[in-house]
Amino acid sequence: MSDQNVFPVDPAFAANAHIDNAKYEAMYEQSINDPEAFWGEQGKRIDWIKPYTRVKNTSFDPHNVSIKWYEDGTLNVSANCLDRHLATRGDQVAIIWEGDNPEEDEKITYRDLHERVCRFANALKAQGIQKGDVVTLYLPMIPEAAVAMLACTRIGAIHSIVFGGFSPEALASRIIGAKSKLVVTSNYSLRGGKQVPLKANVDAAIDDHGASACIERVIVVQRTTKDVAWHENRDVWCHEVCAAASADCPPEEMNAEDPLFILYTSGSTGQPKGLQHTTGGYLVYASMTHEYIFDYHEGDVYWCTADVGWVTGHSYIVYGPLANGATTLMFEGVPSYPDNSRFGRVIEKHKVNQFYTAPTAIRALMQQGEDVLGDSDLSSLKLLGSVGEPINPEAWTWYHRIFGKGKCPIVDTWWQTETGGIMIVPLPGATPTKPGSATRPFFGVQPALVDSEGNEIVGAGDGNLVITDSWPGQSRSIFGDHERFVQTYFSTFKGSYTTGDGARRDEDGYYWITGRVDDVINVSGHRMGTAEVESALVAHPAVAEAAVVGYPHDLKGQGIYVYVTLKAGYEQSDDLMKELRNWVRSEIGPIASPDLIQFSPGMPKTRSGKIMRRILRKIAEDDFSALGDTSTLADPSVVDDLIEHRLNRK
Ligand code: ATP
Ligand code: MG
Repeated sequence: MSDQNVFPVDPAFAANAHIDNAKYEAMYEQSINDPEAFWGEQGKRIDWIKPYTRVKNTSFDPHNVSIKWYEDGTLNVSANCLDRHLATRGDQVAIIWEGDNPEEDEKITYRDLHERVCRFANALKAQGIQKGDVVTLYLPMIPEAAVAMLACTRIGAIHSIVFGGFSPEALASRIIGAKSKLVVTSNYSLRGGKQVPLKANVDAAIDDHGASACIERVIVVQRTTKDVAWHENRDVWCHEVCAAASADCPPEEMNAEDPLFILYTSGSTGQPKGLQHTTGGYLVYASMTHEYIFDYHEGDVYWCTADVGWVTGHSYIVYGPLANGATTLMFEGVPSYPDNSRFGRVIEKHKVNQFYTAPTAIRALMQQGEDVLGDSDLSSLKLLGSVGEPINPEAWTWYHRIFGKGKCPIVDTWWQTETGGIMIVPLPGATPTKPGSATRPFFGVQPALVDSEGNEIVGAGDGNLVITDSWPGQSRSIFGDHERFVQTYFSTFKGSYTTGDGARRDEDGYYWITGRVDDVINVSGHRMGTAEVESALVAHPAVAEAAVVGYPHDLKGQGIYVYVTLKAGYEQSDDLMKELRNWVRSEIGPIASPDLIQFSPGMPKTRSGKIMRRILRKIAEDDFSALGDTSTLADPSVVDDLIEHRLNRK
């Protein structure tokens, strides 16, 4: 391999893995050369009511974007996630729930989960929900979130999950956009020991922000004993309607292309889009990627720390794992409560084998030092995963060392809400890894790099990441706006799906995601991704987090504007600023030398923890009158501080 910093596959891991390198290469080749045969075979991993005879019928032609997989097959998702496991693993734990409070947990078997889902499904019907209706879920990370999702799929209703951290306005716009009749929420949610008034937010969305136009009913889960305002003609308690419902609910027969859910993207770059996913192809893809990428084996305990409000929670807490009959851990709390060792404590307590989290969480823990996990016993871990942003090599090696004790492979999983499942990723028994690279495509995925004119870049190089053909997990449309779907994803580079991300491909064919294409900086004619400069900064001992954007510069076209958050114990100073500038020059080269460095106590982040460079760019441009949609910001006060201390003033 061309790179110095390569982590080879452990032969012992490969020997027991589902996929070793020879298998990867043979299967990948077949998946590309004969997708009909490949996916025709893979489709059998789930149960069909009426088997499909057609496998792939897709077109990326911008005049006729149409994506169909297994189009004449019928199935039910909840039956695949529950009923088909009852005979063999009814008493196996399906969901381990770990509460915000470390004293609180619950183990739910497949049999229990099946019963709860059937009751909930009948309760939804009793509240007037029918096949094709959209149900909004605005819930904390409690078992009812998974129960409500599966209950929707059981009766053919479409769920639209809105992350419980969103404001009443953001919730209302998503309810209205999806024309949803019913919301499921809880009276409060618990995070880090604090109660968050979810039900009051729902009331505000309905009464003050226009969601009354469609909402008829609110089902309320009682999470805490604290009182809550009640509307007799609108609200019902979840435990009451479920107790009154029958535990017998036959699964609805759904076509493979019937909608399964709508999900709004996390909102890093602009107006959120309600992406629509369908039933058959999505489940095949979620289940297959979960098994192979996490190398899940019977009996393993698997933990993904995402929230079900994001696509990661959909595909890799609920649908993928449960379709595979796995034991999936669901965590209500936050990594810093009761203290920063919580992730380690939960891994130890439940003997977690696969652990899947985000770079933002890793960087936050890294700031706390090497002994952040205390004396937690992490010996059960076999594999680590990362998702959501490029993982800086510095954070990758820390994760590998502190969580993985140097022995666990890391799967850096690149994908999007739009893709439904993981797309570019090392397979742990097959692919040597390089810190910071998502490495190679998953089966059936054909990535390509194109320049701004749409010419394909061959061999090593840098460009816009596109996908040239369809895969089963792909989103089929934007809910209610197919034209926007076509415009956004299929009109820029004709015949391909445009990801909006930039990437570099190295001599070994490995992909390195360089950041969003919109964030690429052009300094004196040199194009630069944000990820590389940020990673160089994060590698400096004083830097906890860094974000890089371009701003108009008279001589260079664009200058490099850097926002830096320091680790505890470091003070901002002119000397440190000089040092950081020199550091980047020596790590990358003079071309990447920052022009302006602003120290900031925090970064503007989405609720899913991603840095919103769009806002940082506006501030760097000294043009913050129109920051765009900021409803997905986790902490809007960060923005005020950034504006106050901005360095570029016209
Ligand atoms: P919006 O589309 O509304 O701006 P978003 O793109 O943040 O929001 P998601 O679909 O949750 O919403 O995130 C997908 C994006 O996250 C990818 O396009 C990519 O930029 C980034 N991403 C996810 N995983 C990785 C990864 N492993 N490496 C690099 N980037 C990643
Ligand atoms: Mg996106």
